[in-house]
Amino acid sequence: MGTYNIAVIKGDGIGPDIVEQAEKVIAKIGEKFGHIFNMTEALAGGAAIDAVGEALPKNTIDVCKNSDAVLLGAVGGPKWDGLAGNKRPESALLGIRKQLGLYANLRPAIMHKALSNSSPIKQEIIGDNLDILVVRELTGGIYFGEKGYREGPYGEEAYDVERYSPMEIERIVRIAFDAAMKRNKKLTSVDKANVLESSRLWRKTVIEIAKEYPEVELDHMYVDNAAMQLVRNPKHFDVIVTSNMFGDILSDEASQITGSIGMLPSASLGEGAFGMYEPIHGSAPDIAGMNIANPLATILSISMMFKYSFGLEAEAKTVEDAVTKVLDKGIRTVDIAEEGQASIGTKEMGEAVCAEI
Ligand code: NAD
Repeated sequence: MGTYNIAVIKGDGIGPDIVEQAEKVIAKIGEKFGHIFNMTEALAGGAAIDAVGEALPKNTIDVCKNSDAVLLGAVGGPKWDGLAGNKRPESALLGIRKQLGLYANLRPAIMHKALSNSSPIKQEIIGDNLDILVVRELTGGIYFGEKGYREGPYGEEAYDVERYSPMEIERIVRIAFDAAMKRNKKLTSVDKANVLESSRLWRKTVIEIAKEYPEVELDHMYVDNAAMQLVRNPKHFDVIVTSNMFGDILSDEASQITGSIGMLPSASLGEGAFGMYEPIHGSAPDIAGMNIANPLATILSISMMFKYSFGLEAEAKTVEDAVTKVLDKGIRTVDIAEEGQASIGTKEMGEAVCAEI
């Protein structure tokens, strides 16, 4: 019987549609297990720009810092596309990660058996299930390195610097090894050590940390090969650990292999139990407010929140099992329905999951 404080950022586009379903699931779990979940709403992204003129108001950071975890829908949309980079809704994401010290992004790419037909990969390659965990470094590397314009040999040029310190590599690699220990004890570290100095430091550091985890089978792969192997032989992978930019790209690729962007959750973690939980997809402005968005990625993000921030393993499993039961019964939103299969709306899917809890 615990009390947990959750900051809720609905965001833009389908954000409010899907987060409301996740809130129903949180309330249902609270009822079933006797926990109190206090939810405090805060603004970020386009909704915050419209309300107070900035994508990440200080009040939002304060609400997040005073909570045990953050639930985020998604931010962004065409309405704000004309704004300068550091004023856009998406800048709120980088700001939250940086200000809350969320340096590890965990993205499970899980293909549910009931949805195995949705994968674009041939059945004989993918089998009838897939479960890869991509661990991406989130607050370093080229996205946060020095950047700008300068005079170069061909006139003005733009540059972005990829940089990592051993400390930044060590802490993310430990998270990946710990995750591997709880799974199949297999870790692939992805880098570009044949070309990049920062990748050579990455690989050297991984090899050092590996000495603390003798049970974990470790391999190293260049990022170009990893991109190829993910579609050629996805079963090779269990846990992948990599830098910010490589992880950005590979986690999207891994998610596409499962065939359903509306199904995949993510967790962003730092020191301690605090974390931010969100679906991997964006704000899908094309279907916002139409009650057709798939809320399962957000609902599964709640399961990760229970597991990683609150240590509520049974509650997490209850949510995952409820989603599996719904899928096994053939209940689908339109994005995961097969041709000729009936589909239900966002709200109805939220209710269907609650009914299985
Ligand atoms: P997107 O993920 O929003 O949408 C891609 C496609 O997938 C669209 O056709 C959309 O309808 C569909 N889709 C996405 N989520 C779905 C769901 N839950 N159910 C059913 N269909 C779903 O990506 P995009 O179109 O490239 O980006 C739209 C906006 O979202 C942009 O402003 C982008 O910057 C922003 N974005 C935000 C985040 C975030 O907040 N973390 C992440 C990615 C993109």
